Amino acid sequence: MDNTFFIEKAYINGTFISRERTFDIINPANLEKLGTMPDLTVADCKAAIAAADEAWKSWRSVPVGERCAIVRKMFELIQVHRETLAEIMTKECGKPYTESLGEVEYANSFMEWFAEEGKRAYGETIPSLKGNTHLATVKQGVGVVAAITPWNFPLAMVTRKVAPALVAGCTVVLKPASQTPFSAVALAKIAELAGLPKGVLHVVTSKDSKGFGEELATNPLVRKISFTGSTEVGKTLMEQAASTIKRVSMELGGNAPFIVFADADIDKAVEGAIAGKFRNAGQTCVAVNRFYIQEEVYEQFTEKLTQAVAKLQVGDGMDEETQIGPLINQKGLDKVQEHIVDAVSKGAKITTGGKALEKLFFAPIVLRDVPTKALIAEEETFGPVCALFKFKTEEEAIGLANQTPYGLAAYFYSENIRRCHRVSEKLEAGMIGINTGMLSNASAPFGGVKLSGIGREGSHYGLDEYLEVKYLCFGI
Ligand code: ADP
Repeated sequence: MDNTFFIEKAYINGTFISRERTFDIINPANLEKLGTMPDLTVADCKAAIAAADEAWKSWRSVPVGERCAIVRKMFELIQVHRETLAEIMTKECGKPYTESLGEVEYANSFMEWFAEEGKRAYGETIPSLKGNTHLATVKQGVGVVAAITPWNFPLAMVTRKVAPALVAGCTVVLKPASQTPFSAVALAKIAELAGLPKGVLHVVTSKDSKGFGEELATNPLVRKISFTGSTEVGKTLMEQAASTIKRVSMELGGNAPFIVFADADIDKAVEGAIAGKFRNAGQTCVAVNRFYIQEEVYEQFTEKLTQAVAKLQVGDGMDEETQIGPLINQKGLDKVQEHIVDAVSKGAKITTGGKALEKLFFAPIVLRDVPTKALIAEEETFGPVCALFKFKTEEEAIGLANQTPYGLAAYFYSENIRRCHRVSEKLEAGMIGINTGMLSNASAPFGGVKLSGIGREGSHYGLDEYLEVKYLCFGI
């Protein structure tokens, strides 16, 4: 791999650093060691935060046009090096190379979007009720940002936080998932090449997620914490962040329903189901977890979905024909199997797939006649499993879709416009895919309700997450 970007070092205060103590990163496709990273200490994390605070004092005064120009330069460099970045990604997280190229493009769309949107952090003027003052607002960066990111989108979850933070005038201490730190460090290299001043972005690598999480969430110099990961960890970080009243953005677990009404275009629904379910082998927070199919089209949809799933090619992400890569680790594979065994023991039937293949590979499976009391109805599976439930009425489908404490994405298919409006209004989720299985977009707000989180990423809302509103009252 290109050693300019495949760097086995952390990045603190403008320097790539090594440590004697390291941890291994495993390629999930072959279970071989891909490389090592320094296992930094909490003291290193503290030092990075202090340096970020120091750098903030000057970065916030850099004109926004210049800040945006640097982010734009990063966008251009990512474009040039997209193939290298995709290769690093596939090797650290297992997703098929074409998907990695897609993720690099998606990740980069945040660089492009925020390099523009950063210029539009408008304040406002406010009519004064008594007339003896002029009232206005300005928006300013919150300060030092801590970003903690997961392994399933090693670059996009990073740029979605880093790009708006940088253009807003914030500095960032980023802790990438210990399974996939190489994409994050490659971004630090891109930042360096683009001329980002030293101290504005730090990438701290460690096995000690808990210790680093606590430091980032409690250190008084950090003004904002942005986390993507599980609801359980999100709760802990919010509790810890409360002690210093930090701003928080939490993008947490989902349990997406996918409803197919009898008036849907079934072929399109099957296509959407594959797109919404199998990206990254089902390991995405917006992945469909529960398929609710109206009884009139249950057999037809099941048959067509089964045929489509049976064709999916499983293998090493670097092989051209691969559509489904390995799961990230044994724990992930165990959870998938646990959900299947549970559903089958409660009466579900397998129509295709379901075998554990060698290593961390798993044949995508379709389960029909899944009872609503199955574990999969309540918990996020994070794997290539389609669980099909049957329903009779619209009201029943909405009730089933809303029955979990999560509310990230929800999808449904119907050709009836009035139903589309009705159902969109009633589904409890932050994002609704109507006749589509793909909804992520840099210009649209991504985020959840209920246990799926707080705040939005992407779009102008995603910029506001890194800005404070300051009110100015001029006596005249
Ligand atoms: P996932 O299922 O995606 O691994 P996690 O919430 O466990 O979800 O992990 C997401 C990110 O949070 C990763 O970067 C991980 O290292 C980090 N993390 C895990 N546990 C903690 C913790 N207790 N405090 C802070 N961060 C954590």
